[in-house]
Order: sequence, then structure tokens, then C-alpha cells
Amino acid sequence: MNGIYLLLGSNMGNRLEYLREAEQLLIQHGIHVIDESSIYETEPWGKENQDWFLNVVLQIECSKSPEELLTTILSIEKSLGRIRKEKWGERSIDIDILYFHDEIVETDQLTVPHPGIPDRKFTLIPLVEMCPIEIHPTLNQNQMELLAACKDELDCKLTDYKL
Ligand code: ATP
Ligand code: CA
Ligand code: CA
Repeated sequence: MNGIYLLLGSNMGNRLEYLREAEQLLIQHGIHVIDESSIYETEPWGKENQDWFLNVVLQIECSKSPEELLTTILSIEKSLGRIRKEKWGERSIDIDILYFHDEIVETDQLTVPHPGIPDRKFTLIPLVEMCPIEIHPTLNQNQMELLAACKDELDCKLTDYKL
């Protein structure tokens, strides 16, 4: 992988506004957004009976370590009113680190690449849009190959929304 990729998601309130505010807060924390995917409307993964998400993937640059980036992300989630209730439950904003170049991190706080990537169409579809032939550092498949092998059947619809 060449690049740092974040997944942003929201399924509460004004979802598009939460994505926009999260991007602005990332910028205010010194993070440069160099590319963004289309925005997708996606069926909730892991837990049913909640509203659909809006998801977008950002490619960023920053001078932070993966751990420092996670700290920034968690503080942005907090300032946008994220309350952790139940695993995979509804949330105003979720920001996940998908890839940090080819770095592999496995600590109690952070796993990079994000372990959900190969199982989630809502993550792979925007990645295919942005970096189809970049290769996952441990699975050794590119994003198109990962999507072709992904068994997730939940819906992931392209929208006209813009950040
Ligand atoms: P999932 O990670 O399966 O998408 P989630 O996003 O709902 O689930 P959260 O409640 O947002 O999970 O995050 C719980 C913790 O996951 C965070 O506090 C963070 O320490 C940890 N975490 C581990 N790896 C990552 C990563 N790559 N990006 C963001 N958080 C991570
Ligand atoms: Ca997540
Ligand atoms: Ca998360």
C-alpha cells in the first residue's frame, strides 16, 4: 500500500454534515486530505435494526505515527458526540484507520491494516475506486481481488453526495 486511508461513517442525525465536520476537524489537526472516494449509502454491518450509513474513504497525509493518528481520530469522534454504547451500534461518526502505507500494527489499541477490510464491501468498494491495484500488506491481494473474494452481501449504493 502506498498511502494512508481512513474510513468515515455516520448513521445518526445529519449524516452528511457529520462526515463534513469530521473532515474539517481532521484538517484542523494538521491532516492533509489528498483524495476522497464517492460517498456511499450502506446497509448496517454487524448489527441490524439501525439506520443506513453514509461512508466515505479519505486518503490523507500527516506527520503523525499511527498511534498519534488514532489519538486524533478518537478525540474528533468525541467532539462530534460519539457515544460508545454497543459494539457496531449506531453512531454519529466513526473513523477507522484502514491502511497506513505498508505498516503493520498490532497492539491492544490499534490494528492496522484494519481487520475488517476483507469482509466489508462498504470498505472495499470505495478502496477499489481510489486504489484498485494497491496491495494489502499481509493478504498480498489488491483491492479489486479482495472485493472479488468478499462474501459480504449487504447493499452499498453510490450516491451523488459531495463532502
Ligand atoms: P470495527 O473496528 O469493527 O469497525 P467499530 O469501528 O465500531 O468496529 P469502535 O468502537 O469505533 O469500533 O472502536 C473501538 C476501538 O478500536 C478504538 O477505541 C480503537 O482503540 C480500536 N482500533 C483498533 N484498530 C483500529 C483502527 N485500525 N482504526 C480505528 N480504531 C481501531
Ligand atoms: Ca468501524
Ligand atoms: Ca471505529
